[in-house]
Amino acid sequence: MEVPNHENADLHFVFFPFMAQGHMLPMLDIAALLSLRGATVTFITTPFNAARLRPSLPVHSSISLVALPFPSSASTGLPDGCETVDALPSRNLVRAFFAATKALLAPSLRHLRDHLPPPSCVITDVFLPWTREVAREFGAPRLIFSGSSCFAALCVRNLRAHGVLARVASESERFVVPGLPHRVELTKVQEIIDAAVTSDGVIFNSFEELEREYMNLYRETTGKRIWAIGPVSLSDKDMSNTINRGRKASIEEHQCIEWLEQREPKSVIYVSFGSIGRLNPPQTAELARALDASGRNFMWVVKSGGGDDDGLPEEFKVEPVTARRMIVRGWAPQVAVLSHGAVGGFVTHCGWNSVLEGLCTGVPMVTWPLFAEQFVNEKAVVDVLRVGVRVGVERANGWAGEALEEVMDGGTEGGLRRERARELGERARRAVEGGGTSFVDLTRLIEFVSEHKSMKGAREI
Ligand code: UDP
Repeated sequence: MEVPNHENADLHFVFFPFMAQGHMLPMLDIAALLSLRGATVTFITTPFNAARLRPSLPVHSSISLVALPFPSSASTGLPDGCETVDALPSRNLVRAFFAATKALLAPSLRHLRDHLPPPSCVITDVFLPWTREVAREFGAPRLIFSGSSCFAALCVRNLRAHGVLARVASESERFVVPGLPHRVELTKVQEIIDAAVTSDGVIFNSFEELEREYMNLYRETTGKRIWAIGPVSLSDKDMSNTINRGRKASIEEHQCIEWLEQREPKSVIYVSFGSIGRLNPPQTAELARALDASGRNFMWVVKSGGGDDDGLPEEFKVEPVTARRMIVRGWAPQVAVLSHGAVGGFVTHCGWNSVLEGLCTGVPMVTWPLFAEQFVNEKAVVDVLRVGVRVGVERANGWAGEALEEVMDGGTEGGLRRERARELGERARRAVEGGGTSFVDLTRLIEFVSEHKSMKGAREI
């Protein structure tokens, strides 16, 4: 168990996460890492999110969760109680949700002025541009947490810089991303935000050994400082809290682990589409058929309501837990599950956190992206790192079954893939250990903030 030191107590890091699990969880991990290095850490969010995150707070960290009221439904047009993206009843409300977050600016400034030491650094989600005002008011550097891989960030940056998106005629037209060491083809629908533009630097939940080539290129082309300090899900070294990560698991969390305990090593396929992704009913039915026909054990996280429910076979609903399957409703303790030796394959929607969590445990993946940057991450997993098999939205029926077979067995090619995954997992763990590349980059980040603070102090004298 790591005990925090107090060396950096005069540094105050203020976090502004975007309110979605895939954004809040890695930022909370980063907050925990800084707190373990002795820094003072404040995490600004809203009451619902604070309550949800509180059980995930590492036992020995001293992070202060600040809960500022989310603006009322009368002013935002959002349904009451929607303080997080996964609570939105429709994707059409996402824009209104983005706009609503800006109402947190004034109370954040007030709270920081009246109750807390001045921030030495603002670490903000890429989706919250208004945090610029906070950094400006306190003369603190503003670092962006990108939430994506450096690979994805560079794709976006190069597409913008070369004006590729403007030249693409239709949503489905394929084009090659310029200026990359690998050939990467995308379509227009996959645009994401360029994190570097307005920040003093970008923090990546990634590690040098994973995408060094892309990190060097990103530094060169943007001229920005970057820090790769991941995989941050490994921040809870003694795993004491991974079971509560994000929110309380929907079934008895220990039931998941107990079920895994009784399965052979590497025999279980874990299936999850992240915190907001949903399949449509035919996709759910196809996946259910493929999992059933594979003859393998599987644990599948299914969202309640909508497509997931509609396509699910009746027997999966009536008997969710058998010797071969466990259907988890809503939320599973994913990091704890993936870390269990019984898991041998991971069907993922390719959210970047899930990809990294999969990499850490060294299991090969079946990739099934649903939207946005997930398609770019799929390229990284399948074509660059070569540790995954794509389901391929374009493939004919039976694709899911084929992909499962390739990942879980797959002969020589499958063996090589598994070996590459295992090796990457080891490198990921080494990166965050003392002296590892991510550990050292976190030290550099702290030094950068410390120097900035000293220089500011000197100017003010
Ligand atoms: N997660 C989890 N249990 C679930 C679903 C998701 O713990 O049942 C966690 C997962 O471990 C990851 C995050 O939620 O840390 C999801 O982030 P990701 O980037 O993979 O996908 P998103 O939800 O943003 O699409």
